[in-house]
Amino acid sequence: MANVLVFAETRGGELRKVALEAVTAACALAAQSGGGSVHVVLAGAAGIGAKAEALAQHGADSVLLLEHAGFTQYNPEALAATLAQRLSGGPYGFALFSATAQGRDLSPRVAAKLGTGLIPDLTGFRVEGGAVVGEHPQNNGKVVATLSLSGAPAIIQVRPAAFQPTLNAKPTVTEAITSATEPSASRVKVVELKQGSGDKIDLNDAPVIVAGGRGLKAAENFKLCEDLAEAFGNAAVGATRAVTDEGWRPHTDQIGQTGRNVSPNLYIAVGISGAIQHLAGMRTSKTIVAINKDKDAPIFKIADYGIVGDVFEVMPALTAAVKAAKAQG
Ligand SMILES: Cc1cc2nc3c(=O)[nH]c(=O)nc-3n(C[C@H](O)[C@H](O)[C@H](O)COP(=O)(O)OP(=O)(O)OC[C@H]3O[C@@H](n4cnc5c(N)ncnc54)[C@H](O)[C@@H]3O)c2cc1C
Repeated sequence: MANVLVFAETRGGELRKVALEAVTAACALAAQSGGGSVHVVLAGAAGIGAKAEALAQHGADSVLLLEHAGFTQYNPEALAATLAQRLSGGPYGFALFSATAQGRDLSPRVAAKLGTGLIPDLTGFRVEGGAVVGEHPQNNGKVVATLSLSGAPAIIQVRPAAFQPTLNAKPTVTEAITSATEPSASRVKVVELKQGSGDKIDLNDAPVIVAGGRGLKAAENFKLCEDLAEAFGNAAVGATRAVTDEGWRPHTDQIGQTGRNVSPNLYIAVGISGAIQHLAGMRTSKTIVAINKDKDAPIFKIADYGIVGDVFEVMPALTAAVKAAKAQG
């Protein structure tokens, strides 16, 4: 039986979806280790405590609330010191982070402070004899390394979208904690957050993704995807590697084996053939809709709904239908 400490990632005062995925993964880890508790560190400016409820709904036994103006933005030094202090006060078997930019930065800092081991970017794990044995894809996913880490606390990162957030409500205790160091004294300061795609929703957080492929023929035709995303109101636009290699979209939009792993409620594949490397990054989406003029395109094998047709005819009609449905409430 081992307790798990989870770092819940936030951005702009909101919980990120990866935070709920991390809590779900931590519940599995705790259960496999014989039934430990899941403690979640939630840091932010005053008011961030309102987000504890979502963590409770996904299985946190306790939420350790770090409310301070110094955590309005990501504060790696103060967070690493606080997490390391908490872990060394234990008993904790594991500490779990998301394999995101924040998690990849923060988890090694914590591991270094504790002198303990870390397994990066896991897509799955099991607990064997107290050690965590994790699956870590390498070489663009061609190889999956099995890594075993013993000793406590074992620090692990889980890949975004590898675990689906699962409701698992518990009576959760919320405990206010203080920072191990003065947050405003940190030498590293995040002064501004600039999002690559303006104020659009991040691909990892979007409940709906409209992804375009080479079938759209040119960069300017991604307007069709943007219009549909805007009609939904909660959607992000993604792309295949063929598209990002052409320079039609930034590389940060690429979904697949060598791009982002996503798992939205709805994934709309627009003019995408369905190459195995693309499917590797989106096949866990809850509902997949594919639009392709080739009825034999591989994407239809994994699609829940398929539209055989020309994207230049189907997309405006689909956007109009979504707008009409939204207008009716
Ligand atoms: C090591 C490696 C890693 C890779 N990593 C990734 C990755 O992370 N992500 C990724 O996406 N790819 C990746 N690839 C590339 C991948 O193999 C495919 O080449 C790529 O996904 C194809 O992109 P696409 O579907 O946009 O283009 P295509 O395969 O060219 O497909 C275009 C589709 O559009 C359809 N179409 C054309 N015109 C229309 C129209 N008017 N209306 C409707 N449909 C139309 C066609 O029928 C076709 O099915 C990787 C490849 C390698 C070797």
